[in-house]
Amino acid sequence: MAISHLTLRQAVVDGANFLVRVGAISMSHHGNFSVRVPNTDTILLTATSSFDNLKPENLALLDLEGRLLEGEINPTNAEIVHMHAVVYKQRPETGAVVHTHSTYATSFALASRSIGCSYEALVRSDMIDGVPLAHYGPRGSAASVDNIATALSSAKNTKAVLLENHGVLAFGPDPAAAARANLIVEEAAQMAIYAEVLGGAKPIPSEMLRATVGRRDEFARAGTRRA
Ligand SMILES: [Zn+2]
Repeated sequence: MAISHLTLRQAVVDGANFLVRVGAISMSHHGNFSVRVPNTDTILLTATSSFDNLKPENLALLDLEGRLLEGEINPTNAEIVHMHAVVYKQRPETGAVVHTHSTYATSFALASRSIGCSYEALVRSDMIDGVPLAHYGPRGSAASVDNIATALSSAKNTKAVLLENHGVLAFGPDPAAAARANLIVEEAAQMAIYAEVLGGAKPIPSEMLRATVGRRDEFARAGTRRA
């Protein structure tokens, strides 16, 4: 039987493979990834808990209330549907959400620390507010979902949330962008940890943040230059 939305499914598989390839993931390669079916309140969510050997048919179709509409989903992933859904509800422009336990970002989450905006790539990736921390609640529970909503409200200009004692949730307009947000957060966390040894990462001053965004947008508007 042909599966629905093959292009969207393949984009999720590509995003997951990208994170494995660059190493922005924990050793177990545990993670889950979803994509919104455009112009609907339904998502395709990975139905297995590892990014290894992920195939387009390994995604299930659900609505944002967590009802399974097509395919099957294992119990471990059924637990986390609402963790993804809350991002789509709170940030309607979101097209894809990825959750991993990427090592350095998760180290911040284990230390109950948010990530400040010291690394310029965060600014250029629309994370001027850094990466907020959502306080702990059992995996996928109403408490944990409420805490994610609170963290998203506290940081309008971000593309990721750290889940205390757990991992990281990153999002973007499409699966490639969500995967890239997870990567940038992981890089920022890794460098911030190294910077601790050297006296600590210094935040980019707020007036400079605006200048950095302005410069990025100015060059983006000018488009690709050709000789
Ligand atoms: Zn997890």
